[in-house]
Amino acid sequence: MKILAVSDQVVEGIYSLQIRERFGDVDLVVSCGDLPYSYLEYIVSMLDVPCFFVHGNHDQPEYMSNGNTLTRPGGWVNLDGRTVMCRGTLLAGLEGSIRYKPCAPYQYTERGMAYKVWHLTPALLLNRLLWGRHLDILVTHSPPFGIHDGQDWPHRGFKVFLNLMAWFRPRYLLHGHKHIYGPESWRTRYRHTEVINVYPFQVIEW
Ligand SMILES: [Zn+2]
Repeated sequence: MKILAVSDQVVEGIYSLQIRERFGDVDLVVSCGDLPYSYLEYIVSMLDVPCFFVHGNHDQPEYMSNGNTLTRPGGWVNLDGRTVMCRGTLLAGLEGSIRYKPCAPYQYTERGMAYKVWHLTPALLLNRLLWGRHLDILVTHSPPFGIHDGQDWPHRGFKVFLNLMAWFRPRYLLHGHKHIYGPESWRTRYRHTEVINVYPFQVIEW
């Protein structure tokens, strides 16, 4: 299984004809949010594999030169709050960041995100019955609390993601939201899960 994950920033080597040479062998693509929908549509049209996304806190309608407005990336499946089996891999997603502006879209309080996790739980328990495991890959925009997150409030991670990893043991948690400016490690093991900061892209293979 080979996965291309993208997040937060457009990468020239992906948004060009080189994409097929470099990533033509991936089985699926995930986006952790905060990317132009037109970029995501370019990826799905060039690679022609299943693509799954969650919204980031900066996602907003995109006005195209032909007069159309994109409110989501065409050809991509929104993973928020649901779980999907694709090519033998169980995926689930949770969009958005911690709430730092009242009424802004794709932002949640810690309590609001806990509610979303609670809603997702029956589907994960059903996965366990059907497939013998709850989840392989959790796709989020925000990092978990204390792992790759920031000291400033808008980049603070969610505590409930720590519980989710403890309870459902995904193999990977892929997130974006926190841009890399230093030499810190961006792959961190937490219990049974490898937490990976995707910004601006990562290839995951197993
Ligand atoms: Zn973000």
